[in-house]
Amino acid sequence: MQFDYDDQNIFAKILRGEIPNKTVYESDHALAFEDIQPQAPVHVLVIPKGAYVSLDHFARDASPEEQVGFMQAVAEVCRITGVDDGFRAIANARTHGVQDVPHFHLHIIGGRQLGRMLQG
Ligand code: AMP
Repeated sequence: MQFDYDDQNIFAKILRGEIPNKTVYESDHALAFEDIQPQAPVHVLVIPKGAYVSLDHFARDASPEEQVGFMQAVAEVCRITGVDDGFRAIANARTHGVQDVPHFHLHIIGGRQLGRMLQG
């Protein structure tokens, strides 16, 4: 699998500060910010600062430090947003996954009962 990163994607622009975001948490390796079209009371996107297209790209090529830093950011987002009753983490990839933004991101969704995982 070849991963071609487009540095004009909207999350790359957010990372460069060209587009504003509502930051929830930031570290050396990750940024978490509120989704612009929230699907639930909590809807935060966690993204690595490195140029990775998708979860499988990140899991294959990111360094151990980047991967640990990303997961620590996920933990911080769960703590900050207080999703103690549970949440869903979603990583859409490519066409079948209906990924709109080609920079790896994990949706952290919670704050209400979400129902079963897949509807169709
Ligand atoms: P996906 O379909 O997994 O690629 O999801 C992309 C997500 O990015 C969607 O939930 C959008 O609402 C969200 N999104 C798009 N543009 C922005 C933005 N400028 N700030 C925050 N979230 C955004």
